Amino acid sequence: MTNVQIFDGIKLTNHKSVVIENGFISHKTKGDTVINGEGGTLLPGLIDAHVHMEALNDLENGVKYGVTSMLDMAAHSTEFINSLKKRPGFSDILTCYTAALYPIDDPKAFVADQVNKGADYIKIIIEDQPRMAEKPLSPETITALTEAAHEHKLLVFAHAVSMATFKTAIDAGVDVITHIPVEAPMSQSLIEEMLKKGTITVPTSGMMKKTIAFLNRIPNVNLDTQNIDMTLKALMNAGIPVIAGTDANHAPFAPASIDHGIGLLDEIEAFVAAGMTPVQALQSATSLPARLFGFITDRGMIKPGLRADLLLVDGDPTTDIKALHKVKRVWVNGIESSITA
Ligand SMILES: [Zn+2]
Repeated sequence: MTNVQIFDGIKLTNHKSVVIENGFISHKTKGDTVINGEGGTLLPGLIDAHVHMEALNDLENGVKYGVTSMLDMAAHSTEFINSLKKRPGFSDILTCYTAALYPIDDPKAFVADQVNKGADYIKIIIEDQPRMAEKPLSPETITALTEAAHEHKLLVFAHAVSMATFKTAIDAGVDVITHIPVEAPMSQSLIEEMLKKGTITVPTSGMMKKTIAFLNRIPNVNLDTQNIDMTLKALMNAGIPVIAGTDANHAPFAPASIDHGIGLLDEIEAFVAAGMTPVQALQSATSLPARLFGFITDRGMIKPGLRADLLLVDGDPTTDIKALHKVKRVWVNGIESSITA
């Protein structure tokens, strides 16, 4: 591809062309077929670090907006998730398969089960009051699950939506906490503990704002959506890694519905509104998760040897984040998607 400006996942480079060979980005400088980028911007395909895959349609919606990798955080059957994998020209699906939820009798056996299915990471649901399960998991079980996952060299993603469950997650040594507390802006002491432990966050801020609106329909509940903005800013200012993820789902029991694909563009824009530069916000959906998560180091950047997961847009999203909506073409592992927005 020629006649493009290239954002390589970290910065705008002075390269003007990219060669795709057998699904990967090549060292070569000339290919057999030339694609004219028409002065647009080429970026690494976007990574959504929190989705729920429920229908075939979710795959189509993802790739339509340049989301070439989606990290499934559970809900559906192993068979269904496996049926979505490795479809040429569609987003690559990574998954935890089953999330840990009460009751877990044997944490090691639970983790071994997910490993046998081929899980890319382990997800633990941490709650203070029973909502998704009959009882919350105990801190001892959460710690045992985390240790078992680490023995298998798997990352642990914890779901937490309150200060107390954040504390439990941090104490257990989980690697990534997804969501942010709804009840108040995050305390400075929690932020300092996360910094100390190197905890990564996937705030799903769009979902958390919708969750607050949902909870406020309950009599005598009056939460402030500004809690979410304040926590986002505090995490960014403290230097905690903030990664883009949507919680995209259409489950009837979820507090809110979020679309796959376009939902990630909204989350990236929310990061810019909270104070990230467009470049930092683009990193949060490309090179940052690739580098920090460890299990997707084959993508997230435009660099020889990596997967040719690419997104071509009109305009320059490194200065105007809205340009991400102007999707022209998308490639997954070198195969161009036939579905465009
Ligand atoms: Zn979720």
